[in-house]
Amino acid sequence: MKVGFIGLGRMGSGMARNLLRAGHEVVVFNRSREKAEALVADGARVADTPAAVCSVSEAVMTMLADDHAVEQVAFGENGIASALPAGAIHISCSTISIALARRLAAEHGRRGQRYLSGPVFGRPDAAESKKLLVIAAGPADVVEHCRPLFDAIGRQTFVVGSDPSQANAVKLCGNFMIAATLEAFGEAYAALRKAEVGPHTFLDVMSTLFGSPVYANYGRLIADEKFEPAGFALRLGLKDTRLVLEAAEEYAAPMPLASLIRDNFLSAMAHGQADQDWSSVTRVAARNAGLK
Ligand code: NAP
Repeated sequence: MKVGFIGLGRMGSGMARNLLRAGHEVVVFNRSREKAEALVADGARVADTPAAVCSVSEAVMTMLADDHAVEQVAFGENGIASALPAGAIHISCSTISIALARRLAAEHGRRGQRYLSGPVFGRPDAAESKKLLVIAAGPADVVEHCRPLFDAIGRQTFVVGSDPSQANAVKLCGNFMIAATLEAFGEAYAALRKAEVGPHTFLDVMSTLFGSPVYANYGRLIADEKFEPAGFALRLGLKDTRLVLEAAEEYAAPMPLASLIRDNFLSAMAHGQADQDWSSVTRVAARNAGLK
């Protein structure tokens, strides 16, 4: 398929490379051009603007930082909406708000363009090795049409609804589950350090008990205190926690644990951890316990 890819950060670069590996014709754009140029060796063509990507693509995937970035790239000057041909598809893979997903569906629909939400679970190493879990939502025929693209970037695709924003709801609640795991590790490790039990010893037990890659991988990162370079920056983790709380408010579904996690992310930001991995939020529990 002729595919455009916009947003070649930690996640987007690996995803775009996997589209190329699967044999798709890929045109890329990134705000900082050097990240786009880096994909030329893999067979990508570089465009000068998002609009230039769209004019030659049947589908355009975006993997941008946040709502603000997606709004600029979709609706700004030389943006996607201005250039995507009628019938062509925008797939937003970024973790964005439910409100923006609804706006994207409406604005593209008004122009005769089609829209899907396709956020993903998995860190940059999973993006590079095609191990992402893709959460797709939108009209069934459009999802099926785009399945080869989802197959190219991930190991499994879950179709969670016909309204695109349902995929964003699943992604936000999923990230909340992971953030809750980080918080639990932070508190347990701090208590166990005072009990003179090493975190790796505890992790062996927990990995056996829970049998989840999230537990094993994050448990190890936190035990090793390996927070740099960030796989997922803490400032983006705070963004996702804000977004899930926004959803909680809209649905009148209280999420008291998400409120607590948000405050701990704010504390970590205040301690200069914005660009560390979001698992470094566990330092808040360690500080609360008087540990270094
Ligand atoms: P990242 O490395 O910070 O990359 C962000 C991308 O957005 C870059 O291409 C950046 O361009 C672009 N961007 C930011 N602001 C922009 C703007 N105003 N206009 C145009 N482009 C802009 O972030 P990431 O870790 O790849 O995350 C991307 C998305 O995936 C986020 O929504 C995140 O929540 C989600 N996600 C991340 C992970 C993870 O583990 N990292 C996992 C699942 C989902 P420049 O290169 O020019 O800065």
